[in-house]
Amino acid sequence: MEEIEHWIAGKMMAPEGPLARYGDPTPRGVADSYVRAYTSPGDLILAPFCESASLVREIQATGRRVLALDFNPVGVLSLRMSLAPPARDELLAAFTRLGDAPKAGSPLREHLERLYTTPCLRCRGPATVEAVVWDRASGQPVEEWYRCPACGERASGPLEEADLTAAEWTEGRGLAYWYLADRVASASSRHRQTIQRLLNLYTPRNLHALAQILIKVESLFADSPVAEALKGALLRCLDVGSALFAADAPEARPRQLRLPPRYLERNVWECFGQACESLTDQGARMHLTPDLGSFLKAPANRGEGLVHLQVSTLRSLADRMDSTRVPLILAMPPRLDPLFWSLSYLWTGWLYGPRAAAALESLVGRRSHDWEWYRQSLERAFHYAAQLLQPEGHLLLLGRMAGPSHQAALLLAASEAGFALARALSGGGEEVQLHFQRKPSHTVVTADEEVMTRGPALAQETMCNLLRARGEPTLAPYLRLAAAESLARAQWLSHLAASEEPVSEMEDLWKVLEDANTFVCFDGERWWPRDGGETALPLADRVETAVYELLAGSLGFAHEALLRLVCERFPGALTPEVAIVEACLRSYAEQFSPGYWRLRADEEAMSRDAQAAEVVLILRQLGCRMGYEVKASQGSGEAKARGYDVTWQEEGQLSHGFLVRWRAQIATDILHSPPQPRASEHYYVLPETRVELVRAKLAHDPRLAGAMVRGNWQLLKYAPLRALAGAEEVVRHDLRRIVGLEPIIEQPAAQIPLF
Ligand SMILES: [Zn+2]
Repeated sequence: MEEIEHWIAGKMMAPEGPLARYGDPTPRGVADSYVRAYTSPGDLILAPFCESASLVREIQATGRRVLALDFNPVGVLSLRMSLAPPARDELLAAFTRLGDAPKAGSPLREHLERLYTTPCLRCRGPATVEAVVWDRASGQPVEEWYRCPACGERASGPLEEADLTAAEWTEGRGLAYWYLADRVASASSRHRQTIQRLLNLYTPRNLHALAQILIKVESLFADSPVAEALKGALLRCLDVGSALFAADAPEARPRQLRLPPRYLERNVWECFGQACESLTDQGARMHLTPDLGSFLKAPANRGEGLVHLQVSTLRSLADRMDSTRVPLILAMPPRLDPLFWSLSYLWTGWLYGPRAAAALESLVGRRSHDWEWYRQSLERAFHYAAQLLQPEGHLLLLGRMAGPSHQAALLLAASEAGFALARALSGGGEEVQLHFQRKPSHTVVTADEEVMTRGPALAQETMCNLLRARGEPTLAPYLRLAAAESLARAQWLSHLAASEEPVSEMEDLWKVLEDANTFVCFDGERWWPRDGGETALPLADRVETAVYELLAGSLGFAHEALLRLVCERFPGALTPEVAIVEACLRSYAEQFSPGYWRLRADEEAMSRDAQAAEVVLILRQLGCRMGYEVKASQGSGEAKARGYDVTWQEEGQLSHGFLVRWRAQIATDILHSPPQPRASEHYYVLPETRVELVRAKLAHDPRLAGAMVRGNWQLLKYAPLRALAGAEEVVRHDLRRIVGLEPIIEQPAAQIPLF
């Protein structure tokens, strides 16, 4: 079994299902690599906290069995709708039957359509209201968007008297309101106030419509399998039918439990119809094994690709799994998102009743930074995960961390639950890949003063070593995760986990980065050791070489395959930033079909070497024509000593020095170049196709701009040099017009004929 030591570059897949708006993208390819490396076909993979359909599909496609669970009932409903979308005919027939059901003397459809009807401004016929814009301050509807079936008019406008009555159509806190409140928790519940606050996120008209649909779903389809599909469609309506959406950004994910200044009231009945339509055309339908018992009993050779999905905590699963142990647990840990949890609580109650909602009670009203609570909850869950895992098994956590505190809470929870951190990989941003194994013997540790005091020094030392190994200023997530790995190896994490408020202690530890005696911070985000010291070549330059070598040795690559091969060359905390890899790719390669790249013909090394030699020749000729004394590196003396390819001299003194390159490894070439005479000018000469890569590197390594100013360095491109060489007459001043990434002669404002 080969250990995975490097970052797995994945392609981000958008979340799916009725709750897609609240999900995080899943990196495609990461689960696949771990599953193939650490398990065999037919093995059982456990995916707790699972709300990602693409994660389940990816594991299933490897021929393993997938047991996906989540404690959030509406999360599981949404996942089920993505993996096994309802059959179209069945769901649409159920929708029709629901619309035909009687309500107050007419079919439910007509009853609800009447709620959202307005006179058309053009033909005065009845038009369908699609949405109403409300003003929060006045509590009044101010505009409505409608569509007229008779004359085809689609317009928006102010509300008329009749609309106002319909829009304000309220029984106030009428039957629907209390019915929906009771579905979440009884009147005596201590969460009752919270529930009422959540109900106020809906207009009375929409609450009425949602309640009517819900009542009919339950009464007409109580024992029918199609009830779940109807609830899936209704879940989408519960989301878009709330008033949390700003009129000017109706598709954005809401961030707080507060009505926007101008909010939307959508036509719930219309949304329900659309949701039924959209649920059914989601493509491939996966077979889900309905019952856990038969799923677990499937022999490995016949269990390949089976998937079971259920609402469950790890704890209750551990009770039911008997002696079954899994080799791999793969999870995207839940986020501390108070809005999502409050809405999940409300919607779970509406769709499944108060008992189901009670499972989410502890999440309601959490603050978004309650990381100690989060750590404790996860620790309990991980404790059962450890029980369910084989002794040699692996736990992989992937996804986005909301920041250092989220990261700390996760690392501590896993450590406390008996997991040892094997690898903590960062992609530079919020994405992480955390690989744990069970500690050989889990003994409870108490905070040991001696071990604890070593923490900050160890973290600092690891960070400095990593910076020197990367050879360039580096983003904090790389540094923190590298330090976490060292701290875990030194048992510091285990010791910390035993203390009172470990998350805040770990947050304190990260303040070592703010120690100005040890680190310099560039642009508020990239760190570097103050004393520099002995460092490796800048990582971005090594990445450029790696990308070039890979391209030159192959006929072409899929984008993701190339990213992955580059990351393999830079394991552990040396993982490069994707942006730099991509800048290298765009600089040297072309797409021969969408997403597939190959080296451009003019980037072949032989061709580039020949062009560079030609540029050296041009520089020698230009120098002579401008009246300088020219030296080339083949010669002796200053040009060779200083590493220039060409120098121009005057009265024995260096006037101009040129480095002619075809790669953009400026940092390697000039960061540590010896001091140059101030009176002389220094040029870094590059092909045009490097311009964007140079820009990316200047942004990536903030030391570069400073080094260029200090060394009096300028950039010069091949093409304007060639053009200058072709001019009939040249004077010394002409060089000024062609320096830079955008030389004067290429700027649109320069209208003066130059030659
Ligand atoms: Zn009309």
